[in-house]
Amino acid sequence: MKILVINAGSSSLKYQLIDMDSKSVMAKGLCERIGIEGSNLSHTNIAKDEKTVIEKPMKDHGDAIQMVIDALVDEKIGVISSMDEIGAVGHRVVHGAEEFATSCLVTEAVMKALEKCTPLAPLHNPPNIIGIEACKKIMPNVPMVAVFDTAFHQTMPPKAYMYALPYELYENDRIRKYGFHGTSHKYVSQQAAEFLGKKPEELKIVTCHLGNGSSITAVDGGKSVDTSMGFTPLDGVPMGTRTGSMDPAVVTYLIEHGRSAEEVDRLMNKDSGVAGISGVSSDFRDLSAAAKDGNERAKLALDMFAYQVKKCIGEYAAAMGGLDAVVFTAGVGENDAETRKAIVDGLEFMGVKIDDAKNNARGTVDISADGAAVKTLVIPTNEELMIAIDTQRIIEG
Ligand code: AMP
Repeated sequence: MKILVINAGSSSLKYQLIDMDSKSVMAKGLCERIGIEGSNLSHTNIAKDEKTVIEKPMKDHGDAIQMVIDALVDEKIGVISSMDEIGAVGHRVVHGAEEFATSCLVTEAVMKALEKCTPLAPLHNPPNIIGIEACKKIMPNVPMVAVFDTAFHQTMPPKAYMYALPYELYENDRIRKYGFHGTSHKYVSQQAAEFLGKKPEELKIVTCHLGNGSSITAVDGGKSVDTSMGFTPLDGVPMGTRTGSMDPAVVTYLIEHGRSAEEVDRLMNKDSGVAGISGVSSDFRDLSAAAKDGNERAKLALDMFAYQVKKCIGEYAAAMGGLDAVVFTAGVGENDAETRKAIVDGLEFMGVKIDDAKNNARGTVDISADGAAVKTLVIPTNEELMIAIDTQRIIEG
């Protein structure tokens, strides 16, 4: 069984073809500038370790999918002999609202329900839907599965996902915490259980997905019971350019003092976070270099980030009434040993302690100090593989 995983953005489309027997990637790539002048496809044949860039106009996502298929079956750069080898397509969809608590086979009814979720993710869901429609046209007989960023968090209890606003805003406007990065939190929590030789049902885990966007999740018995992102991916800990949580009165204050809602939205999503604090960069490598050079604001940005993640781990241990493992993943979580150390420093009182030498390793690794009551693990995330696994599970019933 070979599964094509598609992640469609407004002007880009990422893909991977995964062989499910070996769970390995056969080819991957990216279409950029769809519908814009200068569109191109970069395609990598993994076995040959060969990257090819093809510049060709792509007027829409249909053209992009066709180019992907052409590359996959191409005699020179391809990895399969015909499109018939693709057993299913798994599509990443950002928002499934309360309609979708699991991944599901795409049907007409599902497409209608997806449209209903669009007001909650106006920038992300429309290109996801266009990507599914384009694939359906080109591969009408191949089953399609939608895999949602929000679905894993649908197990949160109301006390965790409700905001203390008038109840009608939940009933009429569906304003509540949804959470994001669900595919990643699900994958690394399952991998952690496997690594520890336990069943997910036996474990209380805090998963820290720390990248350009960051979110922390409390996974109790294999289920998400709380998560730091909220109604949108702006909530939670400070991020590359996003504020994370703050007093919402700041928003009304800025608007009352002359900024438009659009300006405040941009300020909070694009100009804030560790980039806004440091004035240096959103990239933790640049921040770390600047802090070492004595840049106080870069140091402050790193301190603020580690402090908020640390607080979140403590909060979720309290919410679950215990903690067996802390898992670090994504760009910062997998690669930045100093930030990991800063986060867990001071959590010894609750059994979290890491070994500095082990903390310098890469890949899937246990970095806990000998005898620590709580395991601290680094587990590389693999959202595409998780999408492919879910897709296979759904189509095989
Ligand atoms: P992601 O969103 O998961 O792709 O993570 C991207 C972010 O990971 C970058 O913006 C960097 O801040 C961070 N990152 C990647 N590699 C490293 C590294 N070696 N050391 C520190 N941070 C890193």
